[in-house]
Amino acid sequence: MSQAMLEFREVDVYYGAIQALQQVSLQVDQGETVALIGANGAGKSTLLMSIFGQPRIRSGQILFCGEDISRKSTHFVASKGIAQSPEGRRVFPDMTVEENLLMGTIPIGNKYAAEDLQTMFELFPRLKERRRQRAMTMSGGEQQMLAIARALMSRPKLLLLDEPSLGLAPIVVKQIFQTLRELARNGMTIFLVEQNAHHALKLSDRAYVMVNGQIRMSGSGEALLVDPQVRKAYLGGA
Ligand code: ATP
Repeated sequence: MSQAMLEFREVDVYYGAIQALQQVSLQVDQGETVALIGANGAGKSTLLMSIFGQPRIRSGQILFCGEDISRKSTHFVASKGIAQSPEGRRVFPDMTVEENLLMGTIPIGNKYAAEDLQTMFELFPRLKERRRQRAMTMSGGEQQMLAIARALMSRPKLLLLDEPSLGLAPIVVKQIFQTLRELARNGMTIFLVEQNAHHALKLSDRAYVMVNGQIRMSGSGEALLVDPQVRKAYLGGA
């Protein structure tokens, strides 16, 4: 049996008395693109953050390439090759595009920096045009691209994305998903959390549906796209 790259086994997370994740089990295999969809407050961000140990899980296990990472530090988890592009496009506002990208190399040292900058500029031509511009003056979509590219600069084995479409115009969302598709085609393993179920399911090999901290459904992206319950709840019933 092949080993999952990322695996949750019956994970419970609490905030005080509130249970945010209940018996969550899921897996992401090498080379797969997997989405987690769900409404506001379903627990999607909590699940991603728990990979980095904040919040700590109360019970269950989180494994990365077979190793239990559920009680390790954020630094340790990042050093294993997991990078996240956070919700809200958190870039360093006063730094230029290029400086932001170079910050992404910190976990691995900068020996590939020049080469990887070129790769990012090919993947995101807009960042090349804007390489000397301060991040705070970039548009929302450009900042999202920068946040993804910065995560990639650490040459992760697994790329985590928290709501890459949040607050962006449809055309920009389309561009970002096209780039993610290209990354996936080149072999990157991607786990993304999205409220934009349509784009997420179209992109993904497989997906999970989260409701109130529990995984309620799973299947191929294609199958969930046409599932009547998913269409009604997450795709505007179309
Ligand atoms: P959204 O798409 O709106 O970001 P989400 O699916 O990512 O939602 P979470 O942010 O993971 O959901 O929140 C899951 C539940 O945990 C919610 O009920 C939320 O209010 C609660 N929660 C999240 N963070 C905390 C916290 N630090 N303290 C207490 N409760 C929290």
